[in-house]
Amino acid sequence: MRYFIYCRKSSEEDTRQIQSLDTQLRLLSDLAANNKLEVVEVFKESKSARLANNRPLFNLMLERIQKGEADGLLVVHTDRLARNFTDAGLVITLLETGELKEVRTPTNLYNTTQSLLYMGFDFVFAAHYSRDLSVKVKAGMESKLLKGEYPGHAPLGYLNVRPGKGIIPDPQRSLFITEAFNLFASGAYSLKALSKTLYKNGFRTKLGKRAYTSVIHRILTNPDYNGVIVRKGKTYPGKHKPLTTKAIFDTVQERLANKSRPRKQIHNFIYRDFMNCSVCGCKITAGIAKHKYTYYRCTNGKGHCEQHKNYWSVDKVESLFQDFFSEITLSSDLAQSSFNLYRDSVLEGKKSEENHLAVLQQQLDSVRKRLGRLEDMWLEERISSNHYDTKRKELLKEQSDVENSLKGCRNADPHSTLELVEEIKNQAISLDKIFSEGDDQVKQDLLRSVLWNCTFQNGKIVSTRLNKLWQPLENLNKTSEIEIWRKWWDSNPRDP
Ligand SMILES: [Zn+2]
Repeated sequence: MRYFIYCRKSSEEDTRQIQSLDTQLRLLSDLAANNKLEVVEVFKESKSARLANNRPLFNLMLERIQKGEADGLLVVHTDRLARNFTDAGLVITLLETGELKEVRTPTNLYNTTQSLLYMGFDFVFAAHYSRDLSVKVKAGMESKLLKGEYPGHAPLGYLNVRPGKGIIPDPQRSLFITEAFNLFASGAYSLKALSKTLYKNGFRTKLGKRAYTSVIHRILTNPDYNGVIVRKGKTYPGKHKPLTTKAIFDTVQERLANKSRPRKQIHNFIYRDFMNCSVCGCKITAGIAKHKYTYYRCTNGKGHCEQHKNYWSVDKVESLFQDFFSEITLSSDLAQSSFNLYRDSVLEGKKSEENHLAVLQQQLDSVRKRLGRLEDMWLEERISSNHYDTKRKELLKEQSDVENSLKGCRNADPHSTLELVEEIKNQAISLDKIFSEGDDQVKQDLLRSVLWNCTFQNGKIVSTRLNKLWQPLENLNKTSEIEIWRKWWDSNPRDP
């Protein structure tokens, strides 16, 4: 006997249940080899068998069986041959006429009247199952949806009350979902930073893991969270409690759409400007390998550096900078207590300055009064013009001196200075956090503000040079001497 092998898988079939075309072919080749069956041709078709006359290869194969090119068929299951009565009838007729002598699957052999009957049942079942299931599922879903009942599994942040009885907010996770939408809508977070922040705050997936960016993305794009149910492009009003508002949801969609485009370009090269090779002094350059992996390495501009053979992934470089920022981040306690002392002394100074100011103001008033009196005396001709001129010059000189002193005092407003210094302090105690939670833009801005440059060798930071304002950071944590801290607070320029 000669056999045709027929494999079929349609795109609409559940990928988990039906084996791939290659797997089907392998199973059937094994079946043929083990039973020493002669296979003359293999047919592979990617079409549905739910409707009749939908498969050109299947029809061609049956024609060739009628012509006598083969008299047996190998399939993994009879439902590969047909899921509708018309096509099933064609196969059964060929068996009845004897043009087809047998149909074999790895578990069954159909070649007698009785097995023909079984095969008929199989077909009927396949067809019925296929039609019935989809109709039932569709009808059930639609009526549920129209009632606003959530169909199927509750998304992360909700719980199924009882099977088929809708969903309610998960008392723990729902808060994180709300937070995720709020944070991302603020624009201050990338997906990655959001994932890390949520994890730090205690958010876990159903498997107890960090919700990675793909999961976060799925959450942020799921409209069901703002109280509707979207299925197959249709929107139904849901009965479940929303975890975010429509306005926030829309903002998040806008941000997601905007972020995906321009990010790629500055992406990942953010460290390049700050890195030098410690062996040859050349710049470290960045590139992209295989269209997706960003790497850093020495440019080897002088042509004799061994370092340029080392490639560091962007993740590696990022973790080095993370370590760097963790090292220079100030101890929050020390920074706070020294800042408090500094603020007290500045405000104390301000008080004595105010006293000084009051004295100067009195002096100014007095000079002005005397000038007025001098003028009166001259108009009343009680003094000579010469005397008047001399005396007037003296008083005008005194007046301008006092005015200048006043100007100098008024310039310094300790409150705005303190505010700036406090801001710098706050930054200094959270550098590591700003770096780890910030997106690429935040990271780059932070590097620019803090770091002049640093040198690398063998995948490690060898030396760093901080910008002037931040230079004391490298030593401050090592001392609790308030004077050293005070100098730093004093040295802070107006604009961090
Ligand atoms: Zn080098």
